[in-house]
Amino acid sequence: MTITITTPLYYVNDKPHLGSTYTTIACDAFARYKKLNGNNVVFITGVDEHGQKIERTAKANNISPSDHCSKIASQYEMLWKKWSISNDKFIRTTSSQHKTLVEKFFHRVDQNGDIRLGRQQGWYCVGCEEYKDDPPGAKDPICSTHKMPLEWRDEENLFFCLSKYQTKIENLISQPNFVQPISRRNEIINFVSKGLKDFSISRVNISWGIPVPGFKGHTFYVWFDALLGYLSGLQTKGEVELDELNNYGWPADVHVIGKDILRFHAVYWPAMLMSAGLDLPHRVFGHGFLTREGNKMGKSLGNVLDPELLLDKYGEDPVRWYLLSDIKFGQDGDFQEKRFIDLTNNDLANTIGNLLNRTSSMSRKWFSNCVPNIHKENENNELKLLASKTISDVINYYEQLSFKEACKAILDLASSSNLYLNDNEPWKLIKQNSERELVSYHLYNVLESCRIVATLIAPVLPNLSRKILNQLGFFDSLQSWEHQLVWGVLEKGQELPEPSPIIPRLE
Ligand SMILES: [Zn+2]
Repeated sequence: MTITITTPLYYVNDKPHLGSTYTTIACDAFARYKKLNGNNVVFITGVDEHGQKIERTAKANNISPSDHCSKIASQYEMLWKKWSISNDKFIRTTSSQHKTLVEKFFHRVDQNGDIRLGRQQGWYCVGCEEYKDDPPGAKDPICSTHKMPLEWRDEENLFFCLSKYQTKIENLISQPNFVQPISRRNEIINFVSKGLKDFSISRVNISWGIPVPGFKGHTFYVWFDALLGYLSGLQTKGEVELDELNNYGWPADVHVIGKDILRFHAVYWPAMLMSAGLDLPHRVFGHGFLTREGNKMGKSLGNVLDPELLLDKYGEDPVRWYLLSDIKFGQDGDFQEKRFIDLTNNDLANTIGNLLNRTSSMSRKWFSNCVPNIHKENENNELKLLASKTISDVINYYEQLSFKEACKAILDLASSSNLYLNDNEPWKLIKQNSERELVSYHLYNVLESCRIVATLIAPVLPNLSRKILNQLGFFDSLQSWEHQLVWGVLEKGQELPEPSPIIPRLE
């Protein structure tokens, strides 16, 4: 079975920020986990390129919308490469295959009687590309997100008959797993209970969009167009009929999104799919927002964390670790530099790095640069028992996108291995020749525990995982967890390369 995982298609009004990086890293960890666990995975990311905001931004920068989009799209592609993102697809909504799919989808929904012409009046935020129901400010209303004046619109639009889907959407979101986490599900249930209104899917007088076939002067509303990128992204070459999409990985297992766009994914999108007679995604996961030192990040505040600069300064491992191990996935998180440095030093450099370094050094010193090879097994091997429990816990956590809990369980195994060394004091035992076998047993256990740590951590920290495995004498890249997540894979007598720090301490 193919598992399809998506990030949102990011809006190209500006260069990538830390929020989109966070979403993409989380999806990457989940996709890597699924691949390692033996699934055929299609991991889709990409960019959403149409709409008035893009048209205006391009104009302000004195370039064509098309050039603007290409510039930002390539910034995204470059950034994801730098962050070791393992996406299989990168979809652009300006591609011709996407345009064809949008047209086919529209025809299907239209044939099903779910499209009507109507008048749309209301206050509109170009920043959100959204009508606002109850905008704050009576005379000159502003967008509460963008703090910008709203624009009054009164135009003829095409509408999607969302109101017809009230009961079906209520049934869908009442399922326990469709909207995650649970707090977001309540928010959506509350929204839907107020009654669904038809929503407009076209705009007039905007040229930067996909023309609606048969309706001169109309282009598709950017959200109607963008959501369909999850389908067009699955096409490998050329056009695919809508009903064939199941052969390419549809429906998605999970759409991972920021909490601000939950309504589009948990309400509008499933209704559109129902109308077109296509299967629904299994779940929609809305994660939280990032702040910096307790403050909202914003251009005007001058406190934006640039993901590229962060990567250049610290490397991928510390940042990925912080974002996934410290912030509970689904809740809001705060980036604090001091805490970031502490976690890097404590968790990665000390707990994991030192454990590997000192065990490997002792083994090399006392066992001719090799994994200790004296055979002795003990039924009550506490590290072996703990490792086996950790493996099943971590798989369970990854499956639920509970990255923080997965990271904690892995770190606990490393901490317990450090304690095990301290308790058993092989550096004292080695002084007595009669205890050499026991020293061998202890060191083997800890080295094997390091291997399990490196294997389990691979979805979150692919780079660090590879470095640890290299230090243990494994040089083939980790392709699958099959045969790896069992105790005893590390071969006795295997040569251990000279240790070098796998993660530098930060000051
Ligand atoms: Zn807005």
